Amino acid sequence: MINAVNSKLDAELEGRTGQKVRACYQCKKCSAGCPVAFAMDLLPHEVMKMISYGQRERLLASSTIWLCASCETCTTRCPNEIDIAGVMDGLRHIAIESGVEPSEREVGMMHRSFLGGIKLLGRTNEPFLIGGYKAMTGNLFDDMGLGAVMFFKRKIKILPRTVKNRRAVRRVFKRTRKMEV
Ligand code: SF4
Ligand code: SF4
Repeated sequence: MINAVNSKLDAELEGRTGQKVRACYQCKKCSAGCPVAFAMDLLPHEVMKMISYGQRERLLASSTIWLCASCETCTTRCPNEIDIAGVMDGLRHIAIESGVEPSEREVGMMHRSFLGGIKLLGRTNEPFLIGGYKAMTGNLFDDMGLGAVMFFKRKIKILPRTVKNRRAVRRVFKRTRKMEV
């Protein structure tokens, strides 16, 4: 029974990310180099172990998958060439699709705002990203002073720039969604 559950999560993540998560032999190099490890409730090597144990609910509810900064330090250190950052991303997406509320609520909102901007414009745009995030958190007027300073120093562009072929970007989103179903 346990094996059946294990292979399901292993296989699901391997299918989504193209990573051989079962190749992990728990050397812990990923955790040793992770700059965010101090704040995580599960270390990266523990995440890999729990995937093989099929601990889906515990993983999807963890703060680690949302605190991961996708810096890829772990990925470059893994002797088995597993893209652990990509596996974390896969877990985030499974959590969203499963309707699991991110344990780090505001990180989840930033994630949604970022992807929404990419889908619409084909690239990031700071006012769009922060505006979407602030609207979701309800803290619309926090950091207004900082935003104004950045605007006057020309660090923020109000008018969004888009990529030439936005349809192609939307097709990527569509195709990815189909692959995940
Ligand atoms: S570095 Fe790679 S092999 Fe080592 S524990 Fe992390 S994922 Fe597993
Ligand atoms: S990608 Fe995530 S898990 Fe890997 S080292 Fe960076 S923060 Fe840590």
